[in-house]
Amino acid sequence: MDAPVVAEALPPWLEKPWEGLVQRARQGRLPTGLLIHGATGVGKSLLTRALVQALLCQRAQGSEPACGECNGCRSFLGGVHPEVMSLEPEEAGKEILIAAAREAIEFLGLSGSGDLRSVMIRPADALNSNAANALLKTLEEPPSGAVLILEAAQPARLPATIRSRCQMIEVPTPNPGEAKAWLRGFAEDPNAVDEAYAASLGRPLTARDVLVDPERMAQWEQDREALTTLLRGPGITAMAAAMQRCLPESLIPRLQALLVAAQRLLVTGEPDAFGQQFPRELLEPFARHKGARRLAQLSAEALVWQRQASRQLNPQLRMEDIALAILRR
Ligand SMILES: [Zn+2]
Repeated sequence: MDAPVVAEALPPWLEKPWEGLVQRARQGRLPTGLLIHGATGVGKSLLTRALVQALLCQRAQGSEPACGECNGCRSFLGGVHPEVMSLEPEEAGKEILIAAAREAIEFLGLSGSGDLRSVMIRPADALNSNAANALLKTLEEPPSGAVLILEAAQPARLPATIRSRCQMIEVPTPNPGEAKAWLRGFAEDPNAVDEAYAASLGRPLTARDVLVDPERMAQWEQDREALTTLLRGPGITAMAAAMQRCLPESLIPRLQALLVAAQRLLVTGEPDAFGQQFPRELLEPFARHKGARRLAQLSAEALVWQRQASRQLNPQLRMEDIALAILRR
C-alpha cells in the first residue's frame, strides 16, 4: 500500500500525549530516549510518526501538526527522509537483532544537515538482549540531536536498564464509546463499526483498517467463516481445512476471543460483542457441550498457540492439532 500523501488527523485520545510531546520538542526538551507504551492497536505508531513528521516539517510551528506538503513531509511520508530511520524486525513476530541495532547506532552518529536524527524502534519489545545492550550506550551518551523512540505494547519485556533510560509516555486505551465515535468517521453504518471493533478485539486502529481496507475486511470474513466451522464441529479434516485458509496470526487471537465469548455466555447468559458476530444457535450449544472447565483449558491453550503463531512451524499440522484440541472433550 502506498504511503498516505497527507498527514493523518490524530484520534482524540492521542491529543494529550501529542501536545505534551510536541511542546517539549519545540522547547528543545525532548529526552534522547522516549518509550511510547500502550495496548496493541491504540495508535502508538501514529503518535510517533506524527511527532517525527512535525519536527521535520518546514512549516509546522508550535503544536500544529505537520503540513503534509513540504519537502520534509514528503520525504518522511515517502520513507526516504535522510534524518529518520526505522528499526523493525525483518519479519513480523521476529526479533530485532544486534546487526540492525548497530546500523541504527551508526546512523545516529552521522552528522546530518538538520539538528535532529531519529530512530523509531517498533516494536521495541522485539529487541533481543544483545540488540538492547548495544543501544544502551547510545542512550547514556547520545550523539548530539539523537532521539530514539521506542514503541512497546509490553514495556515490562524490555530490559530494566533500557526502561530506566527512557521517558515513559503512555498512550491510553479509549473506552468503546470514544473509539466507536472516532471509527464512525470512517464508515457511515453503525453496525459496520460495531462489527469491525469486535473483529479487532477492541483495538481501534486495527478496526479502522478493517473498515477502510477491503483486504482486511475479507480476512475477517475468512476468519469468521473458519471459526463458525469450528463451532459446527464437522470433523477434523473439514475444520483444519477451513483454518488453513486463514493467517494464523490473525485467526488465533480471534479463536481465543471466541473461547472467551463462549465462557461469558455460560456465565452471563448473553454473548459479548465478539460472540455476537456468530450465530447464537451455534455458539450456545458449543459452549454448553464444552462446559466452563474445558473452555477455560482451551483458552489457556490458545494463548500458547498464539505465541507459536509467528514461528515457522508446519502450519498445516498445527491447524490439525488445534482442530483436534477443539473437538476433544
Ligand atoms: Zn510539512
